[in-house]
Amino acid sequence: MAPSEFSHYRRVAGWLGRRFLYLERTTSTSEVLRHLAEEGAAEGVVTLADEQTAGRGRLARRWEAPPGASLLFSLLFRPPEPFAYHATRTTMLCGLALRQAVALGAGLTTSLKWPNDLIIERAGDWRKLAGMLSEIGMAGGRPAFLIVGIGLNVNIPVESLSRLAPNATSLLAEIGHDVGRVALLDTFLQRTESLVERQRAGWDPLVQWRAGLAWRGRMVQVHLPTETLAGVAEDVDAEGALLLRLPDGSRRRFPVGDVSLRL
Ligand code: ATP
Repeated sequence: MAPSEFSHYRRVAGWLGRRFLYLERTTSTSEVLRHLAEEGAAEGVVTLADEQTAGRGRLARRWEAPPGASLLFSLLFRPPEPFAYHATRTTMLCGLALRQAVALGAGLTTSLKWPNDLIIERAGDWRKLAGMLSEIGMAGGRPAFLIVGIGLNVNIPVESLSRLAPNATSLLAEIGHDVGRVALLDTFLQRTESLVERQRAGWDPLVQWRAGLAWRGRMVQVHLPTETLAGVAEDVDAEGALLLRLPDGSRRRFPVGDVSLRL
């Protein structure tokens, strides 16, 4: 196999990705990063793989990706107190940064599918371009770190997409040519780093995140472990929970958790 363009990647300026661990093939970049975090790794470490043998999505689902054609990576954050607030905001701003990187690198407009996916909307339909999975790590009975794992479909040819998921898309499929993965990652890390700094200085990404969400005001289905509810996706609240208006007029709140949203 030819050496990966990531073999020697390292960010020279900034703290996010300054320590960068490239793995040709691994179980899951978030899994590797969790071990590093448990051993005390500092905020900003990034793990990236060309191939994952156990890529994970939310709710114990799998993230599938053919080798060498995606960005499969994880970021380590150590949010300050109040931890839950900063962890939620960090996840939101990662979504915003990914959107910005895709806009700059491929000229594509995307939306965020609550809670954390990046999608492309087309007349009444949608395609998933990226998935994001946030996990919190504990130390001494307290939340200690946040790992954000991202899978972005970059140069996956159209023919291979249906093997990943029925509604998967890639940058290549959308714009018709390959996109440089290093430049894309670099833009994402720069954007994320600057948004984290702004957020910790008091800026709240909620407004922008909310504005970027797909399907606000539309009829959606909310899949819960034991039932499916239909209603209007009215809004999200300050914690990022989904507010669903049911046909009987009542409103239900769904924290980011065991819920999947469908059009
Ligand atoms: P949803 O609510 O859309 O089911 P989710 O947020 O619960 O998504 P994710 O964590 O984003 O799930 O990812 C897992 C799901 O994404 C899988 O069940 C599969 O349907 C889909 N999937 C897996 N690999 C890819 C891929 N490379 N591109 C697009 N979709 C994928």
